[in-house]
Amino acid sequence: MNEAELQKLVEEISIKAFGRPFVHQVKINRRMKTTGGRYHLDDHHLEINAHFLEAENRQYLAGIIKHELTHYHLHLLGLGYQHKDRDFKVLLKRVGGSRYAPNIGQGRRQQRKYLYQCQKCGLKYPRVRKINTRRYFCGRCGGQLRLVEHLN
Ligand SMILES: [Zn+2]
Ligand SMILES: [Zn+2]
Repeated sequence: MNEAELQKLVEEISIKAFGRPFVHQVKINRRMKTTGGRYHLDDHHLEINAHFLEAENRQYLAGIIKHELTHYHLHLLGLGYQHKDRDFKVLLKRVGGSRYAPNIGQGRRQQRKYLYQCQKCGLKYPRVRKINTRRYFCGRCGGQLRLVEHLN
């Protein structure tokens, strides 16, 4: 999904869920880590975290767009647009926006199945695949590694 397609999607969701047009710009942010998006008070543009445009995270995209549009519309209407405001909470719930950015980092962390630990200095090595402990040693002290945990 490119920026023009995202723009179109945001405009559609705005009309469908809020009954009001989105008349500003949406940009893709590739450096965002933990947040799903951002609404800019100064020029009213939205930013969406590029991770949520990837196919495997696409399921969260509408919820994130609705969250940012909730800030957007309330701010332009002069109503309580901040997370703590009642207007925000009520409208977010009504349109079905996500409350927090989904933790997509979680999925990546869970892929690390094996936890090795150095028997000498205690340094831990989470790994996606099994490693041959007869061939690989601790990068810090050269000690022997041992499988200490098999994460799900
Ligand atoms: Zn927010
Ligand atoms: Zn070590």
